[in-house]
Amino acid sequence: MLETLRRIVQEVNAAPDLSSALDVMVARVRLSMGTEVCSIYLLDHNANRYFLMATEGLKKEAVGTATLHFSEGLVGQVGMREEPINLDDAPSHPKFRYLQETGEEPFHSFLGVPIIHHRKLLGVIVVQQRDRRRFDQEEEAFLVTLSAQLAAVVAHAEATGSIDGIFGNTMGVATKFDGVVGCIGVAIGSAFVVYPPADFKSVPDRPVKNIRKEMKTFNDALKRVRADIRALSEKASLTLPPEEQALFQVYERMLDDNALAGEIRAHVQAGNWVQGALREVVLKHVAAFEAMEDAYLRARASDVRDLGLRILAYLQEAKTLTAPIPERAIVMGEDITPTIFVDIPRERIAGIVSLHGSSNSHMSIVARSLGIPTVVGVGEFPLSRLEGLQLIVDGHRGEVIVEPAQEVVRQYQAIISEQEELSKELESVTDLPCETTDGHRVNLFVNTGLMADVNISLQRGAEGVGLYRTEIPFMVRDRFPSELEQMEIYRQQLEAFYPAPVTMRTLDIGGDKSLSYFPIHEDNPFLGWRGIRVTLDHPEIFLVQIRAMLWASESLDNLRIMLPMVSSVMEIDEAMHLIHRAYLEVLEEGAHVQMPEVGVMIEVPAAVYQIKDFVQQCDFISVGSNDLTQYLLAVDRNNRRVASLYQAFHPSVLRALKHIVDAAREEGTPVSICGEMAGDPRSAVLLMAMGYETLSMSASSLLRVKWVLRKVSLEAAQTLLEQVWKMDNAAVIKSHVDLMLDRAGLGSFIRPTLFQGASSQEPPVPA
Ligand code: PEP
Ligand code: MG
Repeated sequence: MLETLRRIVQEVNAAPDLSSALDVMVARVRLSMGTEVCSIYLLDHNANRYFLMATEGLKKEAVGTATLHFSEGLVGQVGMREEPINLDDAPSHPKFRYLQETGEEPFHSFLGVPIIHHRKLLGVIVVQQRDRRRFDQEEEAFLVTLSAQLAAVVAHAEATGSIDGIFGNTMGVATKFDGVVGCIGVAIGSAFVVYPPADFKSVPDRPVKNIRKEMKTFNDALKRVRADIRALSEKASLTLPPEEQALFQVYERMLDDNALAGEIRAHVQAGNWVQGALREVVLKHVAAFEAMEDAYLRARASDVRDLGLRILAYLQEAKTLTAPIPERAIVMGEDITPTIFVDIPRERIAGIVSLHGSSNSHMSIVARSLGIPTVVGVGEFPLSRLEGLQLIVDGHRGEVIVEPAQEVVRQYQAIISEQEELSKELESVTDLPCETTDGHRVNLFVNTGLMADVNISLQRGAEGVGLYRTEIPFMVRDRFPSELEQMEIYRQQLEAFYPAPVTMRTLDIGGDKSLSYFPIHEDNPFLGWRGIRVTLDHPEIFLVQIRAMLWASESLDNLRIMLPMVSSVMEIDEAMHLIHRAYLEVLEEGAHVQMPEVGVMIEVPAAVYQIKDFVQQCDFISVGSNDLTQYLLAVDRNNRRVASLYQAFHPSVLRALKHIVDAAREEGTPVSICGEMAGDPRSAVLLMAMGYETLSMSASSLLRVKWVLRKVSLEAAQTLLEQVWKMDNAAVIKSHVDLMLDRAGLGSFIRPTLFQGASSQEPPVPA
């Protein structure tokens, strides 16, 4: 059974389009279950009707025409109950509905299984038989398993818009893709696909401009791959037996013109650029090998893929092949990282769309600091087909609209104008203090990482830096920066904000922040080697960084050092020991510098309950609410599947935050918060009411938070917090705070007027 399942799934996945996938599915299921009929009904959510989309055993003419209302017939029952229905005499069931066009009269046995993807009902798969018999448990389990696999295929087709064609929905309605808000705001621009090196999934199709040039690029890449294979073969001749070495000859032959290379050339001649042609040919052969019965031949699929990736890697080195960057680029890719800012000038980036990630992944944080409308976690997205198309990035609702209708563009332009107006209004508070209507003062600091943050932060009146993410300059390099290089980078930050304090966090890598030159491979990276754990294991990295920070602060003395991911006093002890050592070293070397204050980030639940112990060892604490939320709720901050469970307004998160501020204040230790919650006006109001004196946020959130805090009183915020303590779930808390801000006339600082009252995702942080 397992082998049959595996083969059907492979064949379905290799089908060129949804119709063929459904045809393959019904044919194979009917054969392997030995039934007379197998049919698939898909649900058209617009029409609220099922349509027969593929069948073996019913009349083929009925495909596309036989239809049932959502609640009609046994199919409707399966969908509504969201569970299989297994009957030995379907016609006698009260819900049975006879569909004349299918000619299904003589069938008695009926087994229908819903097709569901991520809680969404997509259709129903049905098997039928003349005899009166109940399908046995094994058959039912078989169909349930296949249906779950089919769900992913149908969902993908739905996400890529190809299902619209199937339902005849070609009214020019824009295709919309749902994701998660990375940075609020709206952008209209042209799709510009950035693809990671050597990955077929995100290689787009592009028209070839100069066939001769394209062929030359291909020949050069082939030559280099052949040379690699020969080198590998020579190396292997010392260790591998002759029969294994033959593999290298097979590889070389695959590169011949009468094999892969010839086919790729033909695709280029037909008009696709060489990377697209390579992808088409390689993936076709990989799918063909994977579907083979013979285990040996099946294993050849990975050889073809490997060879293809080698060619692709060389092709992607040829920078000249990159499409020109549009004026207003919507930068899209499977996993966009902050390094895009190295390759693409900031002024060209209108918006960002990333298939992976969530609102608290680092790409989103950097996008927010630069105020670039961003949608992440889009999941199923036909990257390769979107290059150059017009897109709207709706960073309020977390949606991407492809080829929007003119009317839709006009609506979004209106939102952009409203945002521009609002920004102008916000500027009026730039030089005013962040003070509530009843005179309570809050310090507004910024989070920085890129040099670009500095100017925006200063322009917006930041009172200091609450978190400088030192890993960002590490991420955009191809090796660790030297002590001198680090010193120069840090000095720029310290000088720019002088005399205001700059809180530099020691290198916080691991989790979702990796350095290409220091890869960390772990099954569970967020629970693994992260932050202080890495740097304490590598004192040579830690000491160099601290020394660079200390030298950079010479004669400025506005440096504060902060330790990430601390979970025990031992870690603080060890880090303090190294910091003192570095301090003595630089003093001995002649530096004129004061010992900076050292703080600890509260990011893991263990730290929450040891505040009083931690503050004995350090000068201040700062809450990293992004990680704290992730660890308290056990929700990966990057995983789009559980993004809706990542709730900063969760009562447990709020209670932990209150516990931290109370404990720190009892000990007289300054406490701030530098997670994304500080930059959301709704949570900022609550944090202020809890007693947080310093909020550190993306520069682009600063004026909005200040505007809102200047319009409320501490007393009203505290009353609101009292009400919140009585609430037991995040959604209710969030709506309640929204309502309060709406009533105070501050709604437009959270979402555009056009969206007010409409159901929208709650943007985590304002731009
Ligand atoms: C946090 O975890 O809240 C934080 C500020 O650190 P980062 O987002 O860089 O992990
Ligand atoms: Mg963190």
